Parts: sequence; structure tokens; C-alpha cells
Amino acid sequence: EVVLEVESLDKIYGGGGILKKLPQTHAAKNVSFTLTRGRTLGIVGESGSGKSTVARCIMRLIDPTSGRIMLDGHNIAGLSRNALRPHRQKLQVVFQDPMRSLNPRWTVAESLIEGPLNYGTRRADALAEAARMLTVVGLPENALKRYPHQFSGGQRQRIAIARAVMMRPDVLVADEAVSALDVSVQAQVLTLLEQLQDELGIAIVFITHDLRVAAQICDEVIVMQHGAVVEKGAAAEVLVNP
Ligand code: ADP
Ligand code: ADP
Repeated sequence: EVVLEVESLDKIYGGGGILKKLPQTHAAKNVSFTLTRGRTLGIVGESGSGKSTVARCIMRLIDPTSGRIMLDGHNIAGLSRNALRPHRQKLQVVFQDPMRSLNPRWTVAESLIEGPLNYGTRRADALAEAARMLTVVGLPENALKRYPHQFSGGQRQRIAIARAVMMRPDVLVADEAVSALDVSVQAQVLTLLEQLQDELGIAIVFITHDLRVAAQICDEVIVMQHGAVVEKGAAAEVLVNP
């Protein structure tokens, strides 16, 4: 079952509005890929190759210049903020810095239940689910009452993952999500992602510059260079001796 299909995605920065005089950058060129339920697709490539641009288009943080982004059969590429809302829940994001998804002044419980409350879940149900989710991601239940600064970097990333998974997404975009962690903590978080995937059937778009990490977690990979996909295939074949 295909959950995300990116077709002929192009992104050109600059050249419009008040930035007319700046040079244009063709940061994504005819990028296409398909992601099926429960699989992990890696987007790898050197710094500046266009990985984040593709990620930001999928997350709809920026508008693609052209192309289609089919999420569960709906093209979300051209949708306005309002039209996007019903689809937003299906696609969640984990960034390199977990504090991009966590409010430092909110307890873990508040961070975890915010999304479900916005989508109409009752508070008591959301809190019960938050408590369950913490054990799933390997944090003690008493973590609910604590604040992000009371946790280690690896634990904070687990909280950010829990917040994303609370929305029961079909697709999780992990944008350099383990890149800032120590190697041993990296392995633990990768294991957690694989476990969530097995249990919940989430599909993951895994963006990384680290080929070793990509080889560990990805089923398929696309390799980007200067904005274009230069290689694509099974991770075991594309990433030989990472
Ligand atoms: P990666 O994530 O692989 O490091 P990026 O997608 O960040 O690559 O960048 C791809 C290219 O697009 C680079 O040349 C970068 O400088 C350029 N770029 C990225 N973001 C912007 C932006 N907001 N405005 C103009 N150029 C950008
Ligand atoms: P990351 O790799 O963490 O995504 P980037 O270097 O891609 O960071 O981009 C950080 C921010 O700077 C983004 O908002 C991006 O749009 C912007 N940016 C990156 N390259 C350029 C550029 N050449 N011109 C203008 N903005 C850029």
C-alpha cells in the first residue's frame, strides 16, 4: 500500500518577489519516489545536495515549484494552510533538534496531548494514551510531569518521537533525527523507530548525511547530488561498505 508518492518534484529558490535580484538555486530537480506502509526510505547525500529541500516540501514548510506530493492519494503540493489541515495529522516530523517540536515551558504530558486535543480527542483519553506512549518509547511514566530540560538529549528525542507518534501518522519524516546523538544513543533511537514501525506500520522518510546510519535503518534509499536523484534502490545494494 503506497502512503506517499513524490512525483517530479522541483524546487527553485529565489527569482521572485523582493528576492528577484538574487541568483536562483535549483535545489530539487525532478525528484520522484514511492513509499509503502511500514517501510523506511532513506534520502542520502552530501550537505547541499537538496535533502532538506525535499523534506521541507514534503512537510509543506515550503512550496514546491512544481510536482506532486501524494499523501494517501491526495495531492498536498498545492494546498493552502487550511486545506492542508485534515492531512497534517497523517504526516509527522522529527527534527535533529527535539526542541523544535517541544515547548520548553510545557510538561511532557502537555506536549504529548496537544495534537490529539486539537483533533478532538478527550483530555482523559489523550492523557491515558500519553502515559502508554511513554512506556512504548522507553521513558518512565513519571516523566509526564517533568519538563524537557530535565532529560538527556536522547530522552528528549524520544519525547519528540512520542509526540509525533501520538498523532498516529502514516508517514514519519525523520530529518537528521539521530545526527546530533552519541553513537550508542543513536543505535537506541534507531531501534525504537524500527520497533514503532513494526508495531504501528508507520512509513518513515529518513533523511541523513550519514551512510552508516542509513544502512542500519533504511529498506530503500535515494541518493541526491546537486538536487537530482543519482541513484535509487535497495539499501543493501546502494550502500555497499558505507
Ligand atoms: P541538504 O539538506 O542536502 O544539505 P539543502 O536542501 O539544504 O541541502 O540545500 C540544497 C541547495 O539549496 C543548496 O545549494 C542550498 O544552499 C540551497 N538552499 C537551501 N535552502 C535555501 C533557501 N531557503 N534559499 C535559497 N537557497 C537555499
Ligand atoms: P539544515 O541542514 O539544518 O536543514 P540548512 O543549511 O539546509 O539547514 O538551512 C538552514 C536554513 O537556512 C533554512 O531555513 C534554509 O532555508 C536556509 N538556507 C540554507 N541555504 C540557504 C541559502 N543558500 N540561501 C538562503 N537561505 C538558505
